Amino acid sequence: MIARGDPRRAIPGVDRLLARPWCELLIATWGRVWIADRVRAVLNGVRSGEIPLPDAVDDYEQLVEMEVARAGTLSLRGVVNATGVILHTNLGRARLADEASRAMSSAAGYVNVEFDLETGERGSRYTHCAGLVTELLGAEDALVVNNGAAAVAVALAAHAAGRGVAVSHGELVEIGGGFRIPEVVEAAGARLVTVGTTNRTRLDDYARAVAAGGVGAILKVHRSNFSMSGFTEETSLTELVRLGAESGVPVIHDLGSGLMVDSDRLGLPYEPTPAMSVAAGVDLVAFSGDKLLGGPQAGILAGKKAGVAQARAHPLCRALRCDKVTLAGLEATLTLYRDPDRAMERVPVLKMITARVQDLERNARSVARTVTRLRAERGAEPLRLEAVRGQSLVGGGTFPDARLPTAVLTLEAGAATDRWMAALRTNVPPIVARSRQGRILFDFRTLRTGGDSILAAALLHLDVDTRGGE
Ligand SMILES: *Cc1c(COP(=O)(O)O)cnc(C)c1O
Repeated sequence: MIARGDPRRAIPGVDRLLARPWCELLIATWGRVWIADRVRAVLNGVRSGEIPLPDAVDDYEQLVEMEVARAGTLSLRGVVNATGVILHTNLGRARLADEASRAMSSAAGYVNVEFDLETGERGSRYTHCAGLVTELLGAEDALVVNNGAAAVAVALAAHAAGRGVAVSHGELVEIGGGFRIPEVVEAAGARLVTVGTTNRTRLDDYARAVAAGGVGAILKVHRSNFSMSGFTEETSLTELVRLGAESGVPVIHDLGSGLMVDSDRLGLPYEPTPAMSVAAGVDLVAFSGDKLLGGPQAGILAGKKAGVAQARAHPLCRALRCDKVTLAGLEATLTLYRDPDRAMERVPVLKMITARVQDLERNARSVARTVTRLRAERGAEPLRLEAVRGQSLVGGGTFPDARLPTAVLTLEAGAATDRWMAALRTNVPPIVARSRQGRILFDFRTLRTGGDSILAAALLHLDVDTRGGE
């Protein structure tokens, strides 16, 4: 109970606030039920003393608007990636090409995802992208599912459930996010048959396992996220394909990254492509849509007609299918690869990998100069900014040993590091950067177009706590 004479007795009722013209505007945008809840939340705050008691009924406008902004903020928001990690798993891996974004936005409406426009009859979702993938890889058929892990799981379940999967000891890897080959084999209802040793596995090792019987598939896993050197030996795909053909056992290649152009073009160490696996004659190659391919999250299986058909017919395929928006984005991305030069220009992942350090450096220096000048003009405390050379990572479990020379803007932050990092994260849009030993680092390689100005504006408003001696 609120005591007689307590000023909180003057708190208006919910209905009174809902009837104010400013509240009617909010209701028109957000709906009455939700705005009524926001008004109640504000009134509760005032009653509990958490929010100072407003003088007049229209003083509630700002309070309700703040509550609407707080509760109405979407959980998933676009961020500025200043980490320098191009395929940043926590930031959604690949940034998509504009062509893909547009296609995805238009697929948000009704689309012919399972409708044949020629016959007017029901069509198959699995026809979309399949033609493009086969065209680009020279494969007989292809299938798109939810992600790379799903592609491997469907392939194994369709070809080896209830039987053995022969895998080299050196390829029992963990990809990250809990994707471990032994567990995927088990989840697919198959039995793991490890062959060879950690550092050396020969064709003979596979041949003996296959000859022993009960092997439903030979699985080769690309070591995408680590490297091995020294006294090592592995069996080539070509040898495995020959063994598979002789013994009637399908060969599945878990390739991972899905690079669709020659790695030479990226100036990076050699990385095999799915087209190479297809050319080697594997029954199925599995790779991701959102790693080096640079598209939306998806998993692609490509290879022989029979191998793909069996995967498509498996019930897991239905459970792991991807939606119309993904298919639209993937199709638009794949289309760019019809002309590899165009892909290099238009696919942001490839463009960021090949960005010239001189250009990035020019951008970093320009932001430092602008911020310094504008802060001086406003009489704000100066920031200690410096453009230096650094190293970016491709990320996403690809090119584990590659370091790309880059330009980094460093901000001396000292004791303010945590506070400033938090301020950057709550910027609109949020800016995600790295910090190291009292310095905040902004890598310009992963900044999108316009990212420089967003960063400059945020730095302009960083507040230096002069009392703290920062
Ligand atoms: C990344 C990767 C996967 C998993 O693909 P997701 O798209 O992350 O599900 C599987 N195998 C290999 C070799 C990989 O590199």
